[in-house]
Amino acid sequence: MALIPRRRLGDVLIDCNLITEEQLSASLKEQKKLGERLGETLVRLKVVTNDDIIWALGDQLNISYIHLTDQLIDFNLARSFSEKLIRKHKFIPIFKLGNELTIVMADPLDGDALNVIESLTEFEIKVAISAATEIDFYIDKVFGKEVETADEDRELGSLLFGSPQISLGDIKKLLKALTPEKTIRMMLLDGLKMGSANICLEPHGNSIHLKYRLSGKVMRRLSLPGEVFLQLKTAIATMTGQKEIRNGSRIIIDGEQGTQVELTLSVLEANHGPCLLFTPSGPDSSNPHLKTLGLSSTDLKTIMGAIRESRGLFLVMGPTFNGKETTLKALLNALPSGEMRGALFTSSPISGLGEDILQIHVTGSENIVKAAENDLDFLAFNNIPDGRSLQLLLEAACRRLVVATMNLSDMTSLVHFLDDHRISRKLFFNSTRLIINQRLVRLLCEECREEKLLPEEFTGLIGDEKLRNIHEARGCGKCNRLKYTDRTGLFEVLSLDIFNRGRMLRDESLFTDIYSNSDLLGFRTIREAAIELAGKGLLDINELLHAI
Ligand SMILES: [Zn+2]
Repeated sequence: MALIPRRRLGDVLIDCNLITEEQLSASLKEQKKLGERLGETLVRLKVVTNDDIIWALGDQLNISYIHLTDQLIDFNLARSFSEKLIRKHKFIPIFKLGNELTIVMADPLDGDALNVIESLTEFEIKVAISAATEIDFYIDKVFGKEVETADEDRELGSLLFGSPQISLGDIKKLLKALTPEKTIRMMLLDGLKMGSANICLEPHGNSIHLKYRLSGKVMRRLSLPGEVFLQLKTAIATMTGQKEIRNGSRIIIDGEQGTQVELTLSVLEANHGPCLLFTPSGPDSSNPHLKTLGLSSTDLKTIMGAIRESRGLFLVMGPTFNGKETTLKALLNALPSGEMRGALFTSSPISGLGEDILQIHVTGSENIVKAAENDLDFLAFNNIPDGRSLQLLLEAACRRLVVATMNLSDMTSLVHFLDDHRISRKLFFNSTRLIINQRLVRLLCEECREEKLLPEEFTGLIGDEKLRNIHEARGCGKCNRLKYTDRTGLFEVLSLDIFNRGRMLRDESLFTDIYSNSDLLGFRTIREAAIELAGKGLLDINELLHAI
C-alpha cells in the first residue's frame, strides 16, 4: 500500500484556502478538455504556483519534496519501468531501500497512477513530490537522447583519463572528436568533481602536466604531449572571450545538474614556461581585503601605518590551513597600486591576486637568492622554507618591503627558530617591521547554539575566570546542520616600530618571553581574542581549543 492517504489535490488545496470551489470546478473542466493533470492546469491558469502545491501537499499530507539530482536517481531502476507508463503518470522511481520503493510524482494524489504502479511491483511505495518541470527533465534524461551523449562523453573521458600519460595519437583523436574547447571543459570539470582547489596546466619539458591541488597537496592527473599546448591555449583564450591568454580573465563552465562554475585564470611563470592556473571564483579567492579578515581596528591601523613606510619584513605566521595566503593577498592588495613594482615568489600558485603582480614559481632557497638580488620595490614569498631563506630575506628587507608567510605555530616557535638557525636577533629586530600570527576559527550558528556550563576539565586549560559558560550548536536548517555559519581570522599583530625595536634591542628578554610581555609590546594575543569570542557565544569548545 502506498504510504499516503488517497485524497484529491483539489480538496487539499481548498482545505489550505489556496483555491475556491469555483476555481476548482472551472479548472477541472479545462483540465478534462486538454487532458492535463489538475496541478498543471491550476499552475497554467495562474490559480496557484508550483510552490503552493508542493507546500500544501507537504503540509497537509506530510509528503516530502525532493529536488531531483543525477546522484539521487537510480537510472537503471527507472529504466526497468515502461517509458510509456512513466510518461503517462509523470513519475520516476528513484531508489529502492529494503522493501520500500521511493517514487517522485508531480501529483502524488493521482490514485490511478499509484494503483498501476503498485500492481507492477511487490514493493511498498513511498511517494515524494517534485516540480513537474524537474520530472519532465529527468524523464527525458532517463529515456532520452541526453543519456547517449552522457555515455559518449564518458567514453571520451576514459580515453582522456584512462592512463596517466596520453599519447599524441590519442590526444589528436580526442581533440578532433571533442574539439579543444570541450576537452578543456572536461579537464576542468574532472578537477572540480575531485574537489580540487585549483587546476593547473604546466609545461614540463616536452609534456604538459595537468595538476590538481587536493587538500593542500599537488597531484598530477595527466601528462599530455607538449605539441597540443598551443591549440589548448588558443581554445582557453577563446573561452575567456579574449584574443590571448590573460591573467585574471574568467571562464564559465557547466557543472553538474545545471549549475555553472566560474573559474579565474592566472598565469604563473615557472621554470619551463608559463603555467595556466584555474581557480573556482569564490568569496575568498578573489581580491581579499584587509578589512574583511577579522582584524581589530587597532591591528588594522598598525598594519596600514607599517605599509606606508614601504620597508621591512612583514612576516605572516600560523599553521597550514589557517588563512596565511589570504592575509598575504590582502597585504599585497593593500599596497599602493601602480606605485610599487614587485613579484610574488611561490612554491605553489596563488589565485585571486591583482593583475599587476607577477607570480614566479620557486622551490628551495636557491631561487630566493636570485629573487633577493632583484631590484623590485617589493618581494612577496609564499612560504619561507628554511633558516637560510629567512636570513636572505631579512637582509633584503633592509632596503625594501618583503611580505612573506611561514609555517610556525606561534611567536615562541619563531624565537626558537631564530635561535636554532643562528639568525642574529639584531638583524631580525632591525629588518622586521611586522609579525602577524593567525588562526582561522569557525563561528557558531546563532540560530541553533545553546549556552551551557564550561565543563570542569577545560577550566584549568583555559584558565580564564571570566569564561564560565560555553556555547554549543546542534545544527539546524539555517546552517545546513553544519553548526557553523562563517569563519573568521584571529590575529596577533606585533609592530616592530621604532619604540618596540628600541625596547627589544635594549632588552632581548622581552622577545625571548614574548607572550608574558604582550601588554608592554602592545599586542593582543590570539588566546585573548579567542576567549573573548567564546564569551560572546561565537566559538564552541573545539574551536576555542584549536585557537589557544
Ligand atoms: Zn544552526
